[in-house]
Amino acid sequence: MSSAKPSSSNAPSSNVPSLRHDWMRDEVSALFALPFNDLLFQAQTVHRQHFNPNQVQVSTLCSIKTGACPEDCKYCPQSARYDTGLEKEKLMQVDAVIEEAKAAKSSGATRFCMGAAWRSPKNKDLPYVVEMVKGVKALGLETCMTLGMLDDKQSSELAAAGLDYYNHNLDTSKEYYGDIITTRTYDDRLNTLQNVRDAGMKVCSGGIVGMGEGEQDRVGLLIQLANMPAHPESVPINMLVRVEGTPFEALDDLDSFDFIRTIAVARIIMPKSHVRLSAGREEMNEQMQAMAFFAGANSIFYGEKLLTTANPEADKDKQLFKRLGIEPEPYSAVEDRREGGNASAVSNVSNGAVEIFEPTAKEAIQQTAQATPLFYNAVS
Ligand code: SF4
Repeated sequence: MSSAKPSSSNAPSSNVPSLRHDWMRDEVSALFALPFNDLLFQAQTVHRQHFNPNQVQVSTLCSIKTGACPEDCKYCPQSARYDTGLEKEKLMQVDAVIEEAKAAKSSGATRFCMGAAWRSPKNKDLPYVVEMVKGVKALGLETCMTLGMLDDKQSSELAAAGLDYYNHNLDTSKEYYGDIITTRTYDDRLNTLQNVRDAGMKVCSGGIVGMGEGEQDRVGLLIQLANMPAHPESVPINMLVRVEGTPFEALDDLDSFDFIRTIAVARIIMPKSHVRLSAGREEMNEQMQAMAFFAGANSIFYGEKLLTTANPEADKDKQLFKRLGIEPEPYSAVEDRREGGNASAVSNVSNGAVEIFEPTAKEAIQQTAQATPLFYNAVS
């Protein structure tokens, strides 16, 4: 399978709707309420307008400082408040992080994400973190960090070091948030995201489903993300991993289809964002992962561990990709993003797929738009 090359002919065609930032609750609720097949078809249709449907961006996550976090996020084994048996570790040495990044690159990752269990980085830690960004960047990888809350000065320092993405999840809806975390507010999170944007970095922000929330909370979360002045470039959708010792260890299973619906709706309302199938993948069978890709997920974490919870081994991922005919999003897409382009957008033009799919997609959208007028504004 050849990697598609970006070219000017890859620009989305005029029937591709512009991005919206004014999603209403009833519109997004209507998407969630669609028959499952209609929702998946819409999501896949939108997905093909912006991305090669057979490419998935691959990131690797490295926990640069583990455990002993003062925050009380009820899902998190890294909180110092819960006895989860997690072994805490100090901030890693810069050299060790660079070695991990090299290994990640050689196994196909294009983005290296570094996570620290902090409320926010301390001034004494920031110089080390800055060195990590510079070192990973020098390897030619995209860099991402998740370090907790950032003020404007910290955001500027990280941006100046070359940090491409900053991850800070909203977790859930504003309404349900107080049931999950009490040590920082929803507005604190939004402020961090604003600081990240103002500093010129790309935003990675999503949430976790399966935390006992209702569908309206999933609607609320996605509306918050989609109605930001700019959509997050990366939207991780996590399935709660119920870790023993956390307050959420005994929550009920979320219906798998509700998880897939969340991915599909995220794809539809944030059509140019990478939607990441994140935590919880270990507990999903291959069929469910394949369905998530069909619903528009096009980014995964690759490697043995996802911060502190197990992640399917890299080999298993490679085999799954092979069986599904999926290839990792090529490095050229990273380069193109750096230059401000959009290599991912309809890059399947190289094999004629756009010509095949586009008319079909247009007809399908029109049919669905008649059946679901609330969606019409998004696609007309
Ligand atoms: S999610 Fe992050 S902030 Fe919350 S307890 Fe875990 S490491 Fe700390």
